[in-house]
Amino acid sequence: MNSQLMPAPPAHSRSGGPEVRTYPAIPAGPHNFASQHRRRRLRSDALTVTAWSSVAASLALWLADGGARGIDSAASAFTAMGIVAGLAGMDLVLLMLLLAARIPLIDRTIGHDRALEFHGKLGKPSLYLLLAHGLLIAVGYGMAEGLDPVSESVALWVQVPDMWLAFISMALFLAVVITSLVAVRRRFPYEFWYGVHLLTYAAVATSIPHQFSVGAVFAEGTWQRWYWMAICVATGTALLFFRVLQPVLATYRHRLTVSRIQTVAPGVVNIEMSGRQLDRLTGTGGRFFVWRFLAPGLWWHPHPFSLSAEPLAHGLQGEGGLRITVRNLGRGSAQLARLRPGTKVAVEGPYGLFGTAARTRDKVVMIGAGIGITPLRALLESTPFSPGNATVLLRGHSEQELYLSVEILEICRNRGARLFHLTGPRVDGDPHTWLPEEAVRRGHTLAAYAPDISESDVYVCGPAGWARNVVADARTAGVRAEQIHHERFDW
Ligand SMILES: Cc1cc2nc3c(=O)[nH]c(=O)nc-3n(C[C@H](O)[C@H](O)[C@H](O)COP(=O)(O)OP(=O)(O)OC[C@H]3O[C@@H](n4cnc5c(N)ncnc54)[C@H](O)[C@@H]3O)c2cc1C
Repeated sequence: MNSQLMPAPPAHSRSGGPEVRTYPAIPAGPHNFASQHRRRRLRSDALTVTAWSSVAASLALWLADGGARGIDSAASAFTAMGIVAGLAGMDLVLLMLLLAARIPLIDRTIGHDRALEFHGKLGKPSLYLLLAHGLLIAVGYGMAEGLDPVSESVALWVQVPDMWLAFISMALFLAVVITSLVAVRRRFPYEFWYGVHLLTYAAVATSIPHQFSVGAVFAEGTWQRWYWMAICVATGTALLFFRVLQPVLATYRHRLTVSRIQTVAPGVVNIEMSGRQLDRLTGTGGRFFVWRFLAPGLWWHPHPFSLSAEPLAHGLQGEGGLRITVRNLGRGSAQLARLRPGTKVAVEGPYGLFGTAARTRDKVVMIGAGIGITPLRALLESTPFSPGNATVLLRGHSEQELYLSVEILEICRNRGARLFHLTGPRVDGDPHTWLPEEAVRRGHTLAAYAPDISESDVYVCGPAGWARNVVADARTAGVRAEQIHHERFDW
């Protein structure tokens, strides 16, 4: 039998160690997930309107400066189009930076991975607009001065202050966007891609001087100049605050130290950490943090890992423990198995929507495969539901690959959730299934395990292709997009 509804298990502690946890029922009672969802949708709409308004505003800056009235020849038309393209392109770049700034409002509203997805989607349009800006300006100015676009570009570089910086900025933008294309990115190690990506900041910094010294729209004393300065400064401040200062503060606040490394299965370890003020993190079960283990050779290597258990805080200062479960999937994660107790840990987060904040319904279905099971374990422990309102499906090739399954069984028993173990090989040559071969042969779909799935929130975490198939099955069963919460472990 490889599609198994699991019976009540023997009592077991969380990690086989001395610490015995109890899992109290957290009823859905006072939680109004429908209104939580409505508020999140409102925030999402407000963010969308603000983003589009900022693009419209960049066009308005030019119109208010009398830009349209100044078009009286082909040359001025090219120049005008170039200016508008530059304003819109730069506005999109600022939006991209804000989407990557890990601003809590954005993270809590659309989630970290969707924010990065939008960030990525804006990359090409902003580059095209900036390239069009350079090209159209060179054509427009060139026509006005009787020069071809290349000679005009050389003249601009040599004669106009700050323009050489703008050329460097364009080259940097090109490098960043090209190395971010998926096909190119996969060829390089993450660190190389990340290093080149940091050049975005240099690209923005080198583009700013010419906007103020050459751009007529931002002439001294105009409100347009103040507005543009304000959005540039606000973006820079958000980046500095949320990407630099917050992680330093969180690391100082929690003072995390590795307390124990425990083997869960071949190639999989639990990393337990102790720290303080962990009461501030309760309810984050299932969300992820970016961790840096401050040991030689490891400290410069940031890793996103999800919590695999709800934070425990018991002391007056919120002293307690955190846990992540790590599978050896590469060079860095393999080294983590050899971490020594006492190693200090720098932390950023929590991030993402793989938690209670994403809930829209009282019922919940959690589906995990491989290492993707581990955040479900934390979520199952912390998210509110009444007995009978939760279903958990764990997928693995074998029982051994259902990591933390004994703990999950125990939580399910205590909290009244139904648990299925789905083990066995996948269907050979069929890329569209996520269930084991035997279940597929019996005609099972997601709805066979969770009949009320269309009325549930569905949390999915596992390998990308597998998760896509689960999501497709859920959609076929009538689950709306807003009910599906999917954490991606790939980048
Ligand atoms: C939101 C999220 C949650 C995750 N949670 C878990 C978890 O709970 N347990 C688990 O085992 N794995 C998890 N992962 C995957 C895990 O982060 C990677 O497998 C791990 O960082 C690979 O590091 P490596 O050095 O072994 O691999 P390499 O391929 O050698 O990676 C080299 C570098 O890339 C970085 N890197 C690799 N993958 C990512 C990524 N997805 N995002 C950002 N940086 C990355 C690493 O930190 C490292 O600096 C998660 C990934 C994401 C995005």
